[in-house]
Amino acid sequence: MPHADPEERRRYRKAYMRAKRAQLGSELKAKEAAWSAAYYRANRQKRVQNALSWNKANPDSHRSSSRKWRKNHPEKDREYGHVKHSRRRSAKGQFTLADWRSLVGRSPRCYWCRRTWTVARKPTHDHVIALSNGGDNSPENSVCACKECNSRKGNRTFHPINGQGILL
Ligand SMILES: [Zn+2]
Repeated sequence: MPHADPEERRRYRKAYMRAKRAQLGSELKAKEAAWSAAYYRANRQKRVQNALSWNKANPDSHRSSSRKWRKNHPEKDREYGHVKHSRRRSAKGQFTLADWRSLVGRSPRCYWCRRTWTVARKPTHDHVIALSNGGDNSPENSVCACKECNSRKGNRTFHPINGQGILL
């Protein structure tokens, strides 16, 4: 296989692009740039509006698009996974499998929305104060939440359903 070495491949691609650009010529390049700038300007308002209404119609869009992004960037996803993992490791406190089992045993429903568990709605480990906000990885800071509430809450410190501040 030619250019099996990634460094070699990169060099090859660079040289190819340089040659291609030269071949296209500066006149054509200028024309293209002017056209795309005009198109960009003409459609800016429309694009913004489209994005806004789409977001409104798809409240979960961010989640699904980030899922798509993760799928397309598995190496980045792993990297962020490590960040999360190390956050969990470096957080104060300790939450063991036994703690989780005991918490699930005491939690017949989602801590936030109070809906009971179903096959589709399984309990997930939610930190009342997110680890990224300095919360402890301890049983005291842990509740069982459905996936929906867990991700809606994110790292904020307010109730994911009624939006009120969480009293600890
Ligand atoms: Zn819930």
